[in-house]
Amino acid sequence: MNVSEILVEIRPAWIRRVANSLARGAGVRENFQEQLERFYDLLVQAVQTGDPAWVDSVLYDWSSAPTQSDLREGQKNISAVLNRMVMMTYELAREDLTEQEALELLGTLLPIFTYALDKAAHYETETRVAFVSNELADMQGKLERLDRSKSSFISVAAHELKTPLTLIEGYTAMMRDIAKSDQSSQMDTLIDGVNNGIRRLRAIVDDMIDVSLIDNNLLSLNFQPVWLNHIFQLLRTEMIGSTAHRKQTFDLRPFPGSDQMLFADGERLYQAFRNILSNAIKYTPDGGKIIVDGRLLPGFIEVTIEDTGIGISTQDQEVIFAKFGQLGNASLHSSGKTKFKGGGPGLGLPISRGIVEAHGGAIWAESEGHDETQCPGSIFHVLLPLRTEPPDPKLARLFGVTKEKEATTE
Ligand code: ADP
Repeated sequence: MNVSEILVEIRPAWIRRVANSLARGAGVRENFQEQLERFYDLLVQAVQTGDPAWVDSVLYDWSSAPTQSDLREGQKNISAVLNRMVMMTYELAREDLTEQEALELLGTLLPIFTYALDKAAHYETETRVAFVSNELADMQGKLERLDRSKSSFISVAAHELKTPLTLIEGYTAMMRDIAKSDQSSQMDTLIDGVNNGIRRLRAIVDDMIDVSLIDNNLLSLNFQPVWLNHIFQLLRTEMIGSTAHRKQTFDLRPFPGSDQMLFADGERLYQAFRNILSNAIKYTPDGGKIIVDGRLLPGFIEVTIEDTGIGISTQDQEVIFAKFGQLGNASLHSSGKTKFKGGGPGLGLPISRGIVEAHGGAIWAESEGHDETQCPGSIFHVLLPLRTEPPDPKLARLFGVTKEKEATTE
């Protein structure tokens, strides 16, 4: 038999052996078989014409469309498949052919397989380079977006810092004039103005520091006994001026668990709820309503802060908690958005989320959408673990909470 005849003769056995050695599941084997039939056809063409390039097309397809090719999936790469083919050809030649036929077959096929291995390596490299370039382009896109949101953060923050600075400049200029003309009676008002500006600057700078602490996982909590109703009563007292000014109702409901002692960082929780409440006031028109309620869940307390304000669109409900996210979108920034006014560099909610998450809790917003005329309102949910023991063992001893446990283990 010449090589062409041998190839016809051994075809079914060759395909069966290679397919069996590559595949495990029967379904997959069928798919392999199809691919192998195609390869074999081209191999025969390559032998008949003496041109190994006949196998190029199938190698190219296997390397560029890995998902279409079970061969590639099953064996990870085409070189491994080709190596398996060489091995199976050796086996088959040894077992089923005469020595003369075996030598002839291998002498013809080996150069074609060598060529195919070389070609496959080349195609595979090309595919990987294309894949990596795509990844790089994706990464570059992400970096560019991050860079844009960082610059918008800088521009918003700079704008926020500039407003109180302008105030302070104005008041001090007036103070200088008054000092010259000696109308000292107006001095108190002017000093109040300067103090106001300084307070706003401090609040913004403090927020920036908190965001960087949260970002770097450096926010440390000072766990103390805390009562949520106490926190909200203090907040109501602090905000009574703003709500009265806006003719808003502040409905603080005595929800289950609000009078229960839990261990948390009271100051940080106050800050987190303060940000949410001041937003509720800010984004609710005059005469609106703010309701603080909650419920006890197994192991958790859920606090809800509901308002009758402008609401938040579904796609923004997650973005508003992302530090650079909401700043990247100028329309989401408070000072540019609603007639209800209010400023802030847009760091309030990211800080609230950082604080709540540092406690092991969760925070999310719920709203039917954003509509400044219909005012669908928003509900902010805060889920806090019902910690009845301080996490720090030293504190536990101080409050005597785990005494019994310690006594039994000692
Ligand atoms: P700031 O209010 O300073 O912009 P925040 O981080 O506190 O920053 O809030 C981010 C954004 O989330 C706000 O700009 C606003 O668009 C939206 N938002 C927050 N709370 C509410 C609310 N209760 N109702 C409607 N929109 C809100």
